[in-house]
Amino acid sequence: MATKQFKAESKRLLDLMINSIYTNKEIFLRELISNASDAIDKSYYRSLVDENVSFNKDDFYIRITSNKEDRTLTITDTGIGMTKDELENNLGTIAKSGSLAFKNENEIKDGVDIIGQFGVGFYSAFMVSDDVVVKSRSINSDKAYKWESKGIEGYDIEECEKPEVGTEIILKIKADTEDESYDKYLEEHSLKELIKKYSDFIKYPIKMLVKKSKKKEGTDKEGKEPEYEDYFEDETLNSMVPIWRKNKNELKQEDYDKFYMDKHFGWEKPLKTIHSSVEGAVSYTTLLFIPAKAPYDFYTKEFKKGLELYSNGVLIMEKCEDLLPDYFAFVQGLVDSADFSLNISRELLQHDRQLKFIAKKIKEKIKNELLLMIKKDREKYVEFYNNFGKQLKYGVYSDFGANKDVLQDLLMFYSSTEKRLVTLDEYVSRMKEDQKYIYYAAGETIDKIEKLPQTELVKDKEYEILYFTDDVDEFAIKMLMKYKEKEFKSVSSNDLGFEADEKESKKETEENKELFDFMKETLKDKVKEVRASQRLKSHPVCLANDGELSIEMEKILKTMPNNPNIKADKILEINTNHPMFVAIKNAFAEDKDKVKMYSNLLYNEALLIEGLPIEDPVKFANDVCKLIK
Ligand code: ADP
Ligand code: MG
Repeated sequence: MATKQFKAESKRLLDLMINSIYTNKEIFLRELISNASDAIDKSYYRSLVDENVSFNKDDFYIRITSNKEDRTLTITDTGIGMTKDELENNLGTIAKSGSLAFKNENEIKDGVDIIGQFGVGFYSAFMVSDDVVVKSRSINSDKAYKWESKGIEGYDIEECEKPEVGTEIILKIKADTEDESYDKYLEEHSLKELIKKYSDFIKYPIKMLVKKSKKKEGTDKEGKEPEYEDYFEDETLNSMVPIWRKNKNELKQEDYDKFYMDKHFGWEKPLKTIHSSVEGAVSYTTLLFIPAKAPYDFYTKEFKKGLELYSNGVLIMEKCEDLLPDYFAFVQGLVDSADFSLNISRELLQHDRQLKFIAKKIKEKIKNELLLMIKKDREKYVEFYNNFGKQLKYGVYSDFGANKDVLQDLLMFYSSTEKRLVTLDEYVSRMKEDQKYIYYAAGETIDKIEKLPQTELVKDKEYEILYFTDDVDEFAIKMLMKYKEKEFKSVSSNDLGFEADEKESKKETEENKELFDFMKETLKDKVKEVRASQRLKSHPVCLANDGELSIEMEKILKTMPNNPNIKADKILEINTNHPMFVAIKNAFAEDKDKVKMYSNLLYNEALLIEGLPIEDPVKFANDVCKLIK
């Protein structure tokens, strides 16, 4: 009997599999098991609709058998089986198999990346085997047939012996090579692992005869060492019902915690578990976790976000990035939807739409759960925020603020009046009647900000100030611009919105114009202006800030590459009610050099307060000593 040729498309896919550069060869087992499960589904369906076919739960199973001597791995199922024609059509032609309806070369090229992300079907067997035998008897036939292929050359079909309905796939496992181990596909423990990893939630039992050891009877007599003997016992390797398919009411938090840790989603119990099922145009179940702590690599490039993607209990992707926005990258968990097929290529676009739809819903779900947490379990939220708040703020800042509406209600900052983290909503609801802005102060730590001279006036007016201690804070807020129609305003900014105080300081500045001009001349480009301060009450001096770029932002940008010369516009503000101002005024009348020294000293003081380096510390130290007389 002449060997039959594969159809052209099949040949191409087969070629891809045989010469697979793809490293994740282990998924072949998942593919074959899921085909077996599909086949059992079909016979189960038949038993429901055809009264001649009986249904006995115990008759439906998948069996894995490995034989190291022959190097064969056999996957047996009690499914619907295939007739001769079906063997030929389903396994000989890709178009029929529905696996990969590759239409053109381009898609095949894309296909290389797609392998491993989504189902690749029966042909994946050729990644680990160069001789594949399929023995099958259809539920509709008395005869059984054997299909065999040694690869690209084609396949043979002949009648064979097989009394039971179902399919048996026998893979002759390749020999180990220098770069690739195939032996493991014959090892009991690695097969167990693979099944746990990819097929744990297949509905039907996946059985394997597993080697065990027991005491030999009669050898356990007193004074004698017991002898042991090996024996084999059938074991079901999969747990069959996935936790997320169970009813919420049946589950305790402990069950979720155990699952979370078994899956290595995190090393301690999750902070929050979100389990929900949605029925609708797209039906899906999600089980999401918010970790209690950020993984050690969370804020690095090494961290990879993503959720596990299941199709009816079969894992099709370990980390599906598209399901999570970056700002929720910390979320762990999975999505299971019967609307995903194992094979993306079937209707690539449609999948995409479903994926996007689910991703959108997941995003909303996480947001709402977090909002609820703020209301119902604030302590927990604060714990969450201390770990992942930075990520939310990056989220506000990135993509030109595209996600600010999603995120703004989740933000928290330390409050000067509440002495704890507060939301923007809380801030705004507490604002005084005459208060125009949401005030903030940026600095390294809460303690340092607390002491900033620039906060004096705003505090004096008993307005609340938000303290920004993360690098990203001010950048994020600039992106936000407003919250509930209230603009953000730095306590260091040029215009604080207090008209009376502003008028007063303008007047003072005017009155001392000559002195301030002289000081500005002394300091040259270091400052844009020297003027009387409206914001200082007890402190002598501070820097204020003109323009979009703040002094804090300058500091942060300077630590990044490519920004060495970036500079915020600084204004030196002098407290004209401070005793030192009298001394300066006197000096201005008598000794201009002294005013020059004072100007430099005050400027350097202001820099120190900001946590900025002073240009000439030695000169500064010497000048201070000159004052000690
Ligand atoms: P898919 O599973 O996406 O249809 P595959 O390449 O995995 O694509 O399988 C091709 C076809 O071969 C299946 O659609 C099915 O008709 C048939 N098939 C594969 N394995 C079995 C099996 N164990 N029992 C019955 N039919 C099978
Ligand atoms: Mg398949």
